[in-house]
Amino acid sequence: MYIFQEITTLKAHLQKIREQGQTIGFVPTMGALHEGHLSLIEQAKQHSDVVVCSIFVNPTQFENPEDLKKYPNALEDDTEMLIKIENDVLFTPNVEVMYPEGVEREKPYDFGWVASTLEGSHRPGHFDGMAQVVKRLLEIVEPDKLFMGQKDFQQQLIVRNLIEFMGIPTELHRCPIIREENGLAMSSRNRRLNDYEIAEATQISKALFRIKRLISEQTIADLKSEAIANMERNKLLKVEYLEIVDAKTLKAVERYEKGMELLVCTAAYLGPVRLIDNVLIG
Ligand code: AMP
Repeated sequence: MYIFQEITTLKAHLQKIREQGQTIGFVPTMGALHEGHLSLIEQAKQHSDVVVCSIFVNPTQFENPEDLKKYPNALEDDTEMLIKIENDVLFTPNVEVMYPEGVEREKPYDFGWVASTLEGSHRPGHFDGMAQVVKRLLEIVEPDKLFMGQKDFQQQLIVRNLIEFMGIPTELHRCPIIREENGLAMSSRNRRLNDYEIAEATQISKALFRIKRLISEQTIADLKSEAIANMERNKLLKVEYLEIVDAKTLKAVERYEKGMELLVCTAAYLGPVRLIDNVLIG
């Protein structure tokens, strides 16, 4: 595996790949890799000749400095995992490389409702920072294809808008959520949970899948309040939001009709650890 910390050397390497007529697939991550990340790399391998994975914990998308400080760092293990699955290129820039003029959040584009609702309303500025770094990474890597997870559904939707608005010539692939056997969506943040908390965290996906099962049998209002009550039955879990929205517009849906494409999504705290999850209906 080729490993680059600098933009110029990475770009020179990728230029050679392009000149050989090979396509580039790109998987941006913040590291602390798990099976979810690896599934994106597998997808990228299937759809492109050369796969670039980046690991960069982007400071401008953290609105809470404590959260940034506590974000797991496991570069050595990550590198080993990537070598093992035969990833082609790893890009691990530091903050100075990505922000040579100093760390400052920029707003690349006003995404409107899709960025201000759900995660956007609870993490102000988060999506601006995320879009800022994804735009920079896309300018550096210039991938033919970009692979992002459904796990961060709203992020993926915003990046889709960004690509369209900026006319960036890359094709975005949305990849399914990889879960533990107990249903818990894999996340780098799960590393901060003990066994008891992990058992509790499984209530999140249980609540989402219950809604999916019962969507045509109960009202949306009842489904939402029961889901929140189930999740909060044990006092450890605190729901920040749980919403049932149109999967394209992210507007709340009040009544289910057959054929609708819905996103059931939630964010919940287990102590200081914030977890998100979602399921798609239709
Ligand atoms: P992160 O390192 O959390 O920024 O995630 C990097 C990419 O991996 C994003 O596109 C995520 O949506 C995706 N991802 C994170 N967790 C999972 C998962 N459990 N299954 C599939 N993709 C995931």
